[in-house]
Amino acid sequence: MPSVFIKTYGCQMNERDSEAVAAQLVAKGYVLAKSEAAADVVLLNTCSVRDFAEQKAINKMGNILGTARSEKRTQITGFMGCMAQSRGRELIDRLPDVDLVLGTQKFHRAAEYLDELLAGKRDKIVDVDAEAKSEATIREHLLNGSAKTSVSAFVSIMQGCNQHCTFCIVPATRGEERSRTIPDIVAECRELAARGVREITLLGQIVTSYGRRAINSTTPSAPKPGNIQHSTFNTQHPTAEAQPAINIQHPMNAAGEGISVLDASQQVTGSRCEVVQESTASLDGEKEKKSPFVQLLEAVHEIGGLERIRFTSPHPKGYGDDLVAAYARLPKLCESAHLPLQSGSDRLLKLMHRGYTREKFLGLTRKLRCARPGIGITTDIIVGFPGETEDDFEQTLSLCREVEFDNAYIFKYSPRRDTPAAAMPDQVPVTVREERNHRLLELVNEIAARKYDAFIGRQVQILVEGPSRKNAARYTGRTRCNKIVLFDGGERHRGQLMDVKIERTGSFTLYGDPAVVNL
Ligand code: SAM
Repeated sequence: MPSVFIKTYGCQMNERDSEAVAAQLVAKGYVLAKSEAAADVVLLNTCSVRDFAEQKAINKMGNILGTARSEKRTQITGFMGCMAQSRGRELIDRLPDVDLVLGTQKFHRAAEYLDELLAGKRDKIVDVDAEAKSEATIREHLLNGSAKTSVSAFVSIMQGCNQHCTFCIVPATRGEERSRTIPDIVAECRELAARGVREITLLGQIVTSYGRRAINSTTPSAPKPGNIQHSTFNTQHPTAEAQPAINIQHPMNAAGEGISVLDASQQVTGSRCEVVQESTASLDGEKEKKSPFVQLLEAVHEIGGLERIRFTSPHPKGYGDDLVAAYARLPKLCESAHLPLQSGSDRLLKLMHRGYTREKFLGLTRKLRCARPGIGITTDIIVGFPGETEDDFEQTLSLCREVEFDNAYIFKYSPRRDTPAAAMPDQVPVTVREERNHRLLELVNEIAARKYDAFIGRQVQILVEGPSRKNAARYTGRTRCNKIVLFDGGERHRGQLMDVKIERTGSFTLYGDPAVVNL
């Protein structure tokens, strides 16, 4: 039986794609190797969001090939995922010993191509073409790959992104938005629940746009052809096409994304929470006003055995009233929201093509906190976007002080090929990007430490996932607002929803004691 080792770079979507490829290969008789050195096949599932991630994967592959050569081992090697999609054959030109380059719409073909390469029927394979219905192919899970049941699973609901933020390469690597159908997704979630999964995270590059475009289109979007020839630089703003939304059940209102309801002025006067309660009431029984994503959340919520639902990655623009209200009325929807901010400056938000203002973003955080007090709010922020002045950056700092995020993922701006921002004037020097990264990190950590400390002495519900990776004597679980809790536990706790009392905190970690509560 050939053995395979898959290393994943990047986001949860990439983790999920790797899992689906691994499950596909296991079903075909492959075994999963513990290290690259012990494997007949090594696949690197790549990320393109920043140059650093691309260089890491290229260097890693260089090392793997070098080691195999010096040890005179024969190994089939391949790149898959986002960088494979955007660079295509260029990767084999650069590293001629690489055998396979598999694009983001081709994960389901991994076994077929590896069989051909292992049998010597083909020498090199590069496949980065578009393929109809590929969005519905990420569905196999490895849950039973180990003897233990997984408690939590990721489910891919859509592929691609039409947002065209000026800094982002994702529309080029993942293609246009394509969504799976609700029945298809629900069937997968139901099966996972039957196998013991209690928490599901719905995944996509932009989940809040779920179902806004044709589902199961027979004319899939073509991601960038995978070679350097597409590097004709497009300095024009690639505005998201004014394509009409095609919904799965009921047409959305004309506003579509629903951000207009987020004007802070609507809610800061009087009782802030009344607005949410009103909108909750007005939405009940009026299915035609619910976005396809909220319809999907409701359908998954019906599944018996599932206790918790999460989703990532959303766009702030996609949080219409219906989604905010869903937090108030769907108890399985965990009180946790990731709201990628990117910048606190309206001038930069416009240059980034984000489609919201600072005030609208602030209004959204207030609404969510009204809908679900205690909701954990995290974000992504880019520092050093072209043209970012000290004043723009100060506005990001001040917004962070105001919102008090539970955590923030900070990215130093990285110019990406074929994106409008890469050609913008006033690129910020690397030293300034680093310095701003450092300052923002300090602020985020200081705020988060305060927020974590506030949990000391409180009782929280956690879903126990298993032993901690760093210390097997400790078990790890997550609160509903997505904070990691460590406690002295054992196998009997795995998969349980239980209460723990928080005794102390560490860096982005809570330490709990189940004994003093109920176990
Ligand atoms: N759905 C998310 C959104 O609303 O923007 C996009 C997820 S993106 C794959 C993850 C994060 O990577 C982004 O939120 C952004 O902060 C960061 N990112 C994307 N392109 C970047 C670039 N060129 N340089 C630095 N960070 C980048």
